[in-house]
Amino acid sequence: MGRLWERLHRLGRIGADDHGGVTRPGFGSAHAEALALVATWAREAGLETGRDDIGNLIAVLPGRDQDAPLIGLGSHLDSVPNGGRFDGALGVVAAVEVLQTLREHTVRPRRGLAALGFADEEGNTFGIGVMSAQLWTGEIGPERYASIVDGAGRSLEAHLRAFDVPGLPVVARPALAAYLELHVEQGPVLDEAGASAAAVEAIVGISRTTVTFHGQANHAGTTPMALRRDALWGAAELALAVRDLANASGERAVATVGVFEVSPGATNVIPGRTRLRVELRSPDEGRLATLRDEVDALVTTAARRNGLSATIDPWHHAPAVPMHPAVLRATQDALVTAGLPERTMPSWAGHDAKVLARRLPVGMLFVPSKGGLSHTPDEDTDPRHCAAGAQALLHAALRLADGPTL
Ligand SMILES: [Zn+2]
Repeated sequence: MGRLWERLHRLGRIGADDHGGVTRPGFGSAHAEALALVATWAREAGLETGRDDIGNLIAVLPGRDQDAPLIGLGSHLDSVPNGGRFDGALGVVAAVEVLQTLREHTVRPRRGLAALGFADEEGNTFGIGVMSAQLWTGEIGPERYASIVDGAGRSLEAHLRAFDVPGLPVVARPALAAYLELHVEQGPVLDEAGASAAAVEAIVGISRTTVTFHGQANHAGTTPMALRRDALWGAAELALAVRDLANASGERAVATVGVFEVSPGATNVIPGRTRLRVELRSPDEGRLATLRDEVDALVTTAARRNGLSATIDPWHHAPAVPMHPAVLRATQDALVTAGLPERTMPSWAGHDAKVLARRLPVGMLFVPSKGGLSHTPDEDTDPRHCAAGAQALLHAALRLADGPTL
């Protein structure tokens, strides 16, 4: 699959920035140029190629059953600022590669296939992550387009009106029977294991809580240790206990305290108040619920042991999204058909697939990220692994396209 590799690198030159990376925010000129380039490849491959009215690339290989909903394959064409050449791009280029390969071998599955390139997944233009997938499903409806604005105050509506890819027709979004996404892992697991690819079992749920410990600010010299109500002590105990909770999960959860504020924040004042944010992620929704309860109990214990009071504000919860069982099976079998060992893992990051899974059967495949690096110019994946992932994507797509209704 030299073509896949070559195209990935040609695409990576669009939006190339001065720091060796790719900066291709959704709906910007580099994004439009990237869409045009991939559309050219798709059209040259004989696919029915266009874009929809919300800036997504759509290239179709019709199936034998013209009325059947399509199997969508894809990912996103935008990038984070100073990002890498693989995040998103691999899934789009591989989708076109799969459709092109099938056409070259005159394989015509029962259901048609659609290669999709979503406009805005990273959320760097409007501050809304996985935005295009939400526009696709209608979770964000047209009535909101005017009120979604970028950093310069320009609305999504205005962006869409101005968005133009010369020569590329605007087409209707096809009905999808299922969606498959090949993506770089963006973590170190497959690279560490020396594996080529994995099927994704679930996209992790994320739970975020703000915990505030209240003590008594006081003189750091005159207050004896035994008489202190130091709010930092509770917070510090909690941060380490949360780490131990995740460590005890058998790699089925991660926990992060990424915000830790001490107030009043002076060298000679005992902290009267600390505020920290605890983020939990797990592919198992049940485990996530248990972990949340355990964190609540830890807060109570840490407050009591240190003579503090505490408040808990659980302000964010996105449930874990399991992949559709039949689509997961198709991706697992596809690895074996592609000559790879069967391997399954969670996705610890969010993807377009996470949003689409709320409306249709979805599955994902991962290939390794060298050194576990992503969202950096150092993002890299061995060409062998990219090819293996695309092979598995092809087999999974065929299985779904010719298989029973999901
Ligand atoms: Zn991505």
